[in-house]
Amino acid sequence: MGVKKAFAAKFTAAPGKALELAKLDPRDDSAFEDKDKAKAQLLADAEAIDRLQDRLFAEGKRALLVVLQGIDCSGKDGTVRAVFNCCGPLGVNVKSFKVPSEEERAHDYLWRVHHACPPRGTIGIFNRSHYEDVLVVKVEKFASPEAIERRYEEINQFEKLVSNAGTKILKFMLHISKEEQAVRLQERVDDATKQWKFKPSDLETRAKWDQYLAAYEVAVRRCSTDVAPWHVIPSDRNWARNAAIARIVRETLEEMNPQYPKPDGWDPGTVKVA
Ligand code: AMP
Ligand code: MG
Repeated sequence: MGVKKAFAAKFTAAPGKALELAKLDPRDDSAFEDKDKAKAQLLADAEAIDRLQDRLFAEGKRALLVVLQGIDCSGKDGTVRAVFNCCGPLGVNVKSFKVPSEEERAHDYLWRVHHACPPRGTIGIFNRSHYEDVLVVKVEKFASPEAIERRYEEINQFEKLVSNAGTKILKFMLHISKEEQAVRLQERVDDATKQWKFKPSDLETRAKWDQYLAAYEVAVRRCSTDVAPWHVIPSDRNWARNAAIARIVRETLEEMNPQYPKPDGWDPGTVKVA
């Protein structure tokens, strides 16, 4: 077991094992010595992710898909900014999944997701994902219980297909406390630069906190697999969240170990640019 497994293992949801989010402390920062060291580690990891991303792009054979899920204010956008802020825009693409459009609703729920999967050589980040189809859709009863019940296995099969085609999948659930969400939602209400992120309906979603948590527990338990593991990340502290995710992404890319291709059909020893 390499370094990566040892670190990621602190957060990995064991396939098929019951998950009790109430027992996982969203303020837990025991994976780090202290805040300053975690911040320094994050900066180093973000730079390493950029170098590895360059190799992944040059190699052009495989992709990495990072799925970010979490309740409103859990820090999905902030994670993207902190973990991938060193990467050039060439090989990284972020896709945010919103309420499905009319065209999207005319297809099966995985249609828009498959279309958004990263092409070989790139890193794709999903800000929300197909998991909304077993989270908000379940809580709000937008689909029948039978249809939702089928989806867990459909999602596992879909992720297996994507993985077999050369895409490494990492899934992160950003776990915050209800108290922390209250603080962050209030900030959105009070701060003119954040009001655009707030909708009055966010409060209705908040009122269903326990139902959402229960839906997350089932999704993580049933869809954490060896090819596409879920990681539950304590996220009340932004710095601990960012540092944990960056380290897992870095070590996954290191394990993939993408290689620069050798010159094809020419010899660098014989070419002199005049
Ligand atoms: P936000 O991430 O705050 O911009 O909000 C996006 C909204 O789209 C959230 O309320 C999600 O629950 C919702 N959403 C995303 N995917 C789906 C889906 N498949 N069905 C219904 N609502 C969705
Ligand atoms: Mg929102």
